[in-house]
Amino acid sequence: MKYISTRGGIQPIGFQDAVMMGLATDGGLLLPASIPNVADKMEEWRHLSYRQLAYQVMRPFIGTEIPAADLRDLIDRSYDAFEHPDVAPLIDLGDVHLLELFHGPTLAFKDIALQFLGNLFEYILARSGGRLNILGATSGDTGSAAIHGVRGKQNISIFILHPYKRISPQQERQMTTVLDDNVFNVAIVGSFDDGQRIVKGLFGDLPFKDRYHLGAVNSVNWARVLAQVVYYFWGAFRLQERTGAASIRVSVPTGNFGDIFAGYVAAQMGAPISKLLLATNENDILARFFQGGVYERGDVRKTLSPSMDIQVASNFERYLYYHLDGDSERLRFLMSCFTESGSMKVHRPGKHGVDPLIGTGVGTTADTIETIRRYYRSHEYVLDPHSAVGVHVARENLHPDEPTMCLATAHPAKFSQAVIEALGRNVATHPTLEALTGKGTRCAILQADEAEVKRFMVEKLIELDAREAAS
Ligand SMILES: *Cc1c(COP(=O)(O)O)cnc(C)c1O
Repeated sequence: MKYISTRGGIQPIGFQDAVMMGLATDGGLLLPASIPNVADKMEEWRHLSYRQLAYQVMRPFIGTEIPAADLRDLIDRSYDAFEHPDVAPLIDLGDVHLLELFHGPTLAFKDIALQFLGNLFEYILARSGGRLNILGATSGDTGSAAIHGVRGKQNISIFILHPYKRISPQQERQMTTVLDDNVFNVAIVGSFDDGQRIVKGLFGDLPFKDRYHLGAVNSVNWARVLAQVVYYFWGAFRLQERTGAASIRVSVPTGNFGDIFAGYVAAQMGAPISKLLLATNENDILARFFQGGVYERGDVRKTLSPSMDIQVASNFERYLYYHLDGDSERLRFLMSCFTESGSMKVHRPGKHGVDPLIGTGVGTTADTIETIRRYYRSHEYVLDPHSAVGVHVARENLHPDEPTMCLATAHPAKFSQAVIEALGRNVATHPTLEALTGKGTRCAILQADEAEVKRFMVEKLIELDAREAAS
């Protein structure tokens, strides 16, 4: 399979190059040149285990670049890190079903993609003799999933900046208790935006970036989307087994549009999915687009579901490309309008909104709390606030013949503040988080200063080199 850019400015490249490139060099996002249709495989695939299914779903997107046995091994090692034998179990909650995607090492669905990406990076670097030093800023979830994805891996190191004392103690411990030699946590005395500005600045320092092989664990990396396509098939099959339905609906708590874009790809491939419900919190730029055809930036509002507090969704451009039938020229024009004015008018919506496959809904803070209470009362099940937004929107869109699967994106113990607000006490705990209390930590505290972070990185990378040369 060859990969192209949404903006049409690169020669087609192979899968491994696409993974290492992350963001396309013309500023666009990478996409497979075609989406394989696998509709005739459904009867065969529904009997596979999660790992076998992952292999079948990924194979056509990778082609012959990675030998079959190697790909199977990468998949097995990635999902052995999950504590549930099914990887993602489907739970029955009465009117809706919940696909639990949070059984990985950091208890959020991002592990599904980042465990695989970490192993894939290591594999590709071993074959090419390269090295990669990942740099990123985090406001919580992504940083810890990325750290756990690459800890202890050969030829990779990772530097993650988080705002000092401004993330939850659980999130902080999930990162700073990782003591592997190749992991560097940096607490920046400042805000998340300061961290992001520093990271941007260092990526813009091209001599530094090239000399030290800087790379990102972009939420736009194609391999992350690919790993997420798998559970749409998996969940649909499990729900069909239970209900006998011909097709299902999926409700997706959405921030950067990565997760729901994977669902869009699964539906294009022929998965039995008739509707994707895009669920947002008060940061509803995407819901407004799918209702009205205009994509317009607003101010970021703080909510109980922080991983969805996003205004500009980095994966949206991929959807836009398909929506415009691959017209890169029009896409470039629209994106430049958006960059300049904070708004783009894509088209006039029909009576089903912009796309009949994609429905939308908003779960406010009050809806989130109400939904957490409802399912605790009815099923003694504790939803995390992100998943609760999705469940709320699912309930507003129930269909008599099409059952709904809601994606549960995090374990509630990660967001105990929201649980306490909803239920009055903290009923959500998890042994993985409890085990972190009292563990040793390592973290450098640095001023919000690009030069200081750069000095720190150079010093650590030289030490790491020396250690590797000696071993
Ligand atoms: C990242 C995240 C989301 C949003 O997923 P996107 O792919 O960015 O749309 C939802 N819930 C949780 C818990 C997350 O960590």
